Amino acid sequence: MQPTSTSKRTDLVLVGGGHSHVQVLEGFAMEPPPETRITLIVDQPVATYSGMVPGFVAGQYRREELEIDVLPLARRIGARVILAKAVRISTARKQIVLEGRPAVSFDLASINIGSTVAGLSTPGVREHAIPTRPIGLFVSRVDALFERLRTERPRDTFRVVVVGAGVGGVEVAFALDHRLREAGHAVDVSVIESGPEILPGYSAGMRRRTVRAAKERRIHVLTGRRVVGVEANTARLTDPQGTETDAAFDLLLWVTGAVSQPLFRDSDLPTDERGFVRVRSTLQLLDHDDILAVGDCATLENHPSTPKAGVYAVRQGPVLTANLRRLLAGGKLLDRYTPQHDFLTLVNTGGGGAIGGKWFLSFEGDWVFRLKDAIDRKFMHRFQPLDHPNRSTAFDTAAMGQEDGEGAEMEMLCGGCAAKLGQLALERTLSRLPPAAENRSVELGLGDADDAACYTAPGGERVVSSVDQFRAFTDDPFLVGKVAAINAASDLYAKGVEPRYAHALVALPEGSSDSEHEDTLFELMAGARAALDELGIALIGGHTTTATELLMGFHVEGFAERDQELLAQKRLRAGETLILSKALGTGVLFRADMRGELRGPWFKGALASMQRSNREAAAVARRFGARAATDITGFGLAGHLASMLRAADLAAVVDVTRLPALPGATEILETGLRSTFHEENARVARGMEIDGAARRDPRFALLFDPQTSGGLLFGVPEKNAEGALATLLDSGHAAAIIGKTTSAEATSRLRVTTLLS
Ligand SMILES: Cc1cc2nc3c(=O)[nH]c(=O)nc-3n(C[C@H](O)[C@H](O)[C@H](O)COP(=O)(O)OP(=O)(O)OC[C@H]3O[C@@H](n4cnc5c(N)ncnc54)[C@H](O)[C@@H]3O)c2cc1C
Repeated sequence: MQPTSTSKRTDLVLVGGGHSHVQVLEGFAMEPPPETRITLIVDQPVATYSGMVPGFVAGQYRREELEIDVLPLARRIGARVILAKAVRISTARKQIVLEGRPAVSFDLASINIGSTVAGLSTPGVREHAIPTRPIGLFVSRVDALFERLRTERPRDTFRVVVVGAGVGGVEVAFALDHRLREAGHAVDVSVIESGPEILPGYSAGMRRRTVRAAKERRIHVLTGRRVVGVEANTARLTDPQGTETDAAFDLLLWVTGAVSQPLFRDSDLPTDERGFVRVRSTLQLLDHDDILAVGDCATLENHPSTPKAGVYAVRQGPVLTANLRRLLAGGKLLDRYTPQHDFLTLVNTGGGGAIGGKWFLSFEGDWVFRLKDAIDRKFMHRFQPLDHPNRSTAFDTAAMGQEDGEGAEMEMLCGGCAAKLGQLALERTLSRLPPAAENRSVELGLGDADDAACYTAPGGERVVSSVDQFRAFTDDPFLVGKVAAINAASDLYAKGVEPRYAHALVALPEGSSDSEHEDTLFELMAGARAALDELGIALIGGHTTTATELLMGFHVEGFAERDQELLAQKRLRAGETLILSKALGTGVLFRADMRGELRGPWFKGALASMQRSNREAAAVARRFGARAATDITGFGLAGHLASMLRAADLAAVVDVTRLPALPGATEILETGLRSTFHEENARVARGMEIDGAARRDPRFALLFDPQTSGGLLFGVPEKNAEGALATLLDSGHAAAIIGKTTSAEATSRLRVTTLLS
């Protein structure tokens, strides 16, 4: 979490991770603006650099080379990152309205969300064409296509139709032609353009060279034809005389011009005829000084015909950075942006060459591609903080506590369920207390050390309850509230009981202003309600206090049927197969995030796993004959399994090679990084028998990684194991069979191996 103070900080909200915003994140890295809370809202954690996309299609770049991971860039300036789609801007409330979660308030906002392609409403296009926007999705679909073509060779010539002959369309046509021929396919590529010529707006020389290059490759160029409808494998075209013809295709790519995303239209902001928001030369909206917009999504009032091209968004980056800084400092004299009259255009022709143009000049050759490649790589290099992690940034200084003169050893402790008291310390403490008076209404209590307690109420109801609270694991209160609720409910699911009621336990960070407290509490509770409402749990009360940092938890309660056997840990049996319902690794992933070293897609994967409740997994466990279960949280898989084995007086064998890992978890563990609670959890290894190969396996460390909102671990009769696993996998769980239970005669309770016999 960012440091807090009693004076309210200015809220700067950046929407979109486009070419200009990545420069703002980079520009603020050495000196973030003071007293400012920066929030980055992105629908995807990585931004795709379109300039290199044709090269990717041609097979010249790997996917990672064209992606900018905005998460580590944002973390370097201590920004919070919200993974959500912005759908509207409320100027009256000064809020960005988001899909699926509460709006975010701003004092100053900047929008860099790019554009979408025109003509998507043409009949059949959404069903049968691949549009180039969103560009990340386009890249994934092209990737999937090449993967498919590797295994399924088309019997006949593979027909590609590219609709739109701007620079993007032409480049994609050359790139696909090259890639498919290189792979040994017979291919026929056509480019269809509604205007009278290709590359509208570019020099005659560039057009001539491009048409000649297309002819040499036998790429058909059809101008003056508009696609009016698409069916499976056929596009219907009309010419200016209204004559209709059909073009057959196996692959249809939609690379038509740019139009605005609906965000501005739905926000009642000043827009041009294509829906782009109108901005002044200071990049502020026409009649809103506190909202700026850049890149494709904005039209410059003084230069309305500026093309929608990434080069303009790139050039606007430094002006935007300077103006945001000035506005945050209360300044009025803002920089003005004037678009360049012309820019160097380089058309990648796929096979190592390119055609270039500026003003009336045009040129071509392999050197032109090398020039384009050098320009693109230089730009991309600036935004890869994980590739040169030694660069000192404001994030390092703040995260390491050096601002307060503290040493590097003062690194913050992990949050979530990794912020528990150690298992041994807890047991020792409880054993020092005098035994409690016998209470015959308690069925599961302190002595059982299970996930939840169970007692019989005077009316005969069997009440099952649990309490859970943790330190914020990330700086997004909505997510903290949501995951805390799911995590707390999990204790009851682990006993096979539906939670019905919840009380919230909140501690807000001391030193924040009243309005910040109110905002944080609202977001926490909105997140909690999003989870509780979906699970049918009524929030019936709570308690809020302040503490040195944000804490969130719940007391949850449900009822067991009169004759229901709870999935108590002590009911585990020998000879059962152990199934884990979720992948491991949240502890180390969030430790990496605290250090600004987590990749965006790994962050997204961990969040998705943590936001999945264990309700379905519990139902599967019961359906396939489980008698005992536990949910994996702070003590890690080994700690929770050890406690289950002690309760049932059993032993178990676990195969580390079968442990499911969240994306990125083993990669980070292999660098030696661990959650701050890992070492404490690893003490349990002292009583374990560990094969040498298992200890050397990269997944070994997952055994001790503390989990926040981890999966269920349960035992089922061996004959039911495959059925239970298949059911979990079918419903999207990253589940695995990880081991089996045996009688307690073995020398140690837990044996870790690499080969489960
Ligand atoms: C195939 C192809 C090749 C091209 N080649 C070139 C070229 O070589 N040179 C050139 O100058 N131009 C090129 N262009 C044009 C270029 O892609 C765009 O002009 C450029 O990407 C615009 O940049 P931007 O910063 O405005 O937005 P973008 O780069 O599109 O970034 C927008 C960001 O906002 C995010 N976002 C979008 N909507 C939302 C939302 N509602 N909420 C939250 N986040 C959101 C997106 O995920 C993305 O990260 C090409 C286009 C294509 C299709």
